[in-house]
Amino acid sequence: MAAQKDLCDAIVIGAGIQGCFTAYHLAKHRKRVILLEQFFLPHSRGSSHGQSRIIRRAYPEDFYTQMMDECYQIWAQLEHEAGTQLHRQTGATAAGNEGNSELKTIQATLSRRGVEHQCLSKWGVLDKSGGVLYADKALRALQDAIRHLGGLVCDGEKVMEIKPGFPVTVKSTAGSYQAKSLVITAGPWTNQLLRPLGIELPLQTLRINVCYWREKVPGSYGVSQAFPCFLGLGLSPAPHHIYGLPSGEYPGLMKVCYQHGNNTSQDVQILGRFVRDHLPDLEPKPALLEPCCTRLRALHSDRHPKYDNVVIGAGFSGEPEQGRRALKLTYLRTSMKLTPSYDLTPFRMSRFPGLGKSPPRPLDSASFLYTGAGNKASGCNMPSCSPASLEPPVNAA
Ligand SMILES: Cc1cc2nc3c(=O)[nH]c(=O)nc-3n(C[C@H](O)[C@H](O)[C@H](O)COP(=O)(O)OP(=O)(O)OC[C@H]3O[C@@H](n4cnc5c(N)ncnc54)[C@H](O)[C@@H]3O)c2cc1C
Repeated sequence: MAAQKDLCDAIVIGAGIQGCFTAYHLAKHRKRVILLEQFFLPHSRGSSHGQSRIIRRAYPEDFYTQMMDECYQIWAQLEHEAGTQLHRQTGATAAGNEGNSELKTIQATLSRRGVEHQCLSKWGVLDKSGGVLYADKALRALQDAIRHLGGLVCDGEKVMEIKPGFPVTVKSTAGSYQAKSLVITAGPWTNQLLRPLGIELPLQTLRINVCYWREKVPGSYGVSQAFPCFLGLGLSPAPHHIYGLPSGEYPGLMKVCYQHGNNTSQDVQILGRFVRDHLPDLEPKPALLEPCCTRLRALHSDRHPKYDNVVIGAGFSGEPEQGRRALKLTYLRTSMKLTPSYDLTPFRMSRFPGLGKSPPRPLDSASFLYTGAGNKASGCNMPSCSPASLEPPVNAA
C-alpha cells in the first residue's frame, strides 16, 4: 500500500462534464487528482458531447435558480483562464399557453430571486441571462486546465473494479490506482460501477434524438436576429417539453429537440408538428438528425451510504449546472470538511427509501465493455471491444 503522503487525493471516474469539472476543482484546490475515462477523448457516447447546451436561470425550483449565480461565475472564470469563449448570452424564453402552471412558477421564481427578466404578454418569460454554452469546447478547456494544474487525464482506460476502503483502490484496463477518495461520475454507466458496491440508483437512461431544422431564410432564427434559446412548456400535445437553440451551430440550421426519447420516428413527428405550429420559418422536416445522446433523470450527488470517501454524482440532465455545483459541494463537504453554501437535500440519495440495502453484486459480464479475446493485432493484450456494448445501457420508463 502506498504511504499516505504518496497517495493521490482523488480518483474521478468519467470525463464527461461532471467528472471534468470535479477534477478541475480538485486540481485548483491543489489536490492530486487522476481522471479516468473509458474512451479515447474526445468521444461521443455519453451525455456531454456536442457543440451546444442551454444555460438559464429560469427554473421552477428556487434552489436551482439560486445556484446559478455561482455557475455563471465559474463559467466566466474558466473562459478567462482558457482564453476562449465558452458561452454566448442570447436570453432564454420559457413559453407556454396562458395559465400554464410551470410558466407561472418560473415567473414567480425569477421575480422572487431578483433575476432580470421580461414577461412576454401572457405566454412567456424571457430570462435575459440565458444563453448557449459551447459544450465540446468547455470539455476541452477543462481537460487542458486539469493537466495544466498537475492533474492526470487518462483516457482509453475503463475502470473494471473498485475496492472500497482507505485507501480506495481502482483497477482499470491499464493499471491500478490508490487514492484517499473516489468520485464516480460515470453518467449512464453509473449503476454498473455501483452494483458491486451494493447500491443501485433509480436512474432512467434515454436516447435523445438531436434534430436540426433548416431555416427557410438563413439566419431568421439566428443569434444575429437576437433569437433566444427557448423551452416550450406544454405547447405540444406530447407529454414532455420541447426546447431549441438559435441557429449558429450549423449555418442555417436550428436545433429543436424533444426532452424525452427512445423512439426516433415518434419524436420526429412530435417535433415536426411543433415546428409547423410555432416556428413557421423552419422547414418542418429535420435536415439533420445526430446520433442519439443519453440523458439521465433523477439527480444524485451524495456520498456512498457505506463508504464515506466515495462520492457519486449522476443524473444531471435538465439540471446539469446545479448538479455540478451540488457535486462539488458534496465533495468539498465530504473530503475537505467544508460546510456547503447550499442545502443539498434535493440531491441526496435518502430521497429514495431502501437505497443501499441491496447486497453487493459483482460486475456482470454483460456490463463489461470488453469482450472476446485480446486485441493481439494492435500489439495490445487488452480484450477487444464489441461495438454494441460500447453503447450505454438504456432503460426508459
Ligand atoms: C440531447 C441532450 C441535450 C441536453 N441539453 C442540455 C442543455 O441544453 N443544457 C444543459 O445544461 N444540459 C443539457 N443536457 C444535459 C447535459 O449534457 C448532461 O447533464 C451532462 O452532459 C451529464 O454529464 P455527465 O458527466 O454526468 O455524464 P457523461 O457525459 O455521460 O459522462 C460520463 C463519462 O463516464 C465515462 N465512464 C463510464 N463508465 C466508465 C468506466 N467504467 N471507466 C471509465 N470511464 C467511464 C463515460 O465514458 C463518459 O465519458 C443535455 C443532454 C443531452 C443528451
